[in-house]
Amino acid sequence: MLKNNYHTHMKYCNHAVGEVEDYVKTAYELGYLSLGMSDHAPIPLNSMTKEEWDHNYCGQNMTMDTFNIYLKDIESAQKKYPNIKVYKALESEYLRGYDSWYKNLRDKLDYMILGIHFFKDNIGKVLDTYEDLNYNNLDYYYQNMEEAVKTGLYDYLAHPDLFYFDYKDKNGNHTFDDKCIEITHKICKLALKYDLPLEINCNGLHFSSDKENIKNFRYPVYDFWNIAKDYKGLKIILGVDAHNPNLLGGEWILKAKEFCKELNIKYLEKLDF
Ligand SMILES: [Zn+2]
Ligand SMILES: [Zn+2]
Repeated sequence: MLKNNYHTHMKYCNHAVGEVEDYVKTAYELGYLSLGMSDHAPIPLNSMTKEEWDHNYCGQNMTMDTFNIYLKDIESAQKKYPNIKVYKALESEYLRGYDSWYKNLRDKLDYMILGIHFFKDNIGKVLDTYEDLNYNNLDYYYQNMEEAVKTGLYDYLAHPDLFYFDYKDKNGNHTFDDKCIEITHKICKLALKYDLPLEINCNGLHFSSDKENIKNFRYPVYDFWNIAKDYKGLKIILGVDAHNPNLLGGEWILKAKEFCKELNIKYLEKLDF
């Protein structure tokens, strides 16, 4: 089905199930050659108000203490399954002003994924990518991505199209308007400039009531990828974003592949870290 997947969660984020070893074993049995463990990274303490912390479920993310256990778990899985390459990674947010925090994480990893589930606007208010985005604040989402990428600490951009999840245009409607088109181009140019792969995320199907018509997928977002696919040299990768070991062999991977086929998207089978 897939030979390599770089986006995998596990029990430490408190909303996925399974140990590192469960994922590695399943991946190995399914014929994967490599698996990147990339659970949700620790978030800098005191980086937002208590309300913002709770609203964005930051309490679910691993703490620095569990991060060290997580690394040890990965090391033991590497020893136990020497015939599959297992990477140490994290999926991390980015909040400006905390670069040393993220650098400290990145220093212990093979790669780090940027996954923007929340970010700060121009006045430091934390916005939720799923719920809060509209015509007036979408620029801040891109700004956050650009600032994160410029740190040089991130190697992979997860679900860059997540901004459209519940996006509202000028009239309060969920349409892929000119602002979305502008931001899509900016993201593609940024990824090209810094040579970072953009991910088509298989887990978005989890949120889609219509799993048949690719134009109705919650994400991957058809209109986003219909623009991105024309960027020559842009690296595109499929990410399972598994929150359960079974999803490493799940039907959503096939759906994501269909999505790519219908849009004529060429994606990479493998990345090097
Ligand atoms: Zn998650
Ligand atoms: Zn993820």
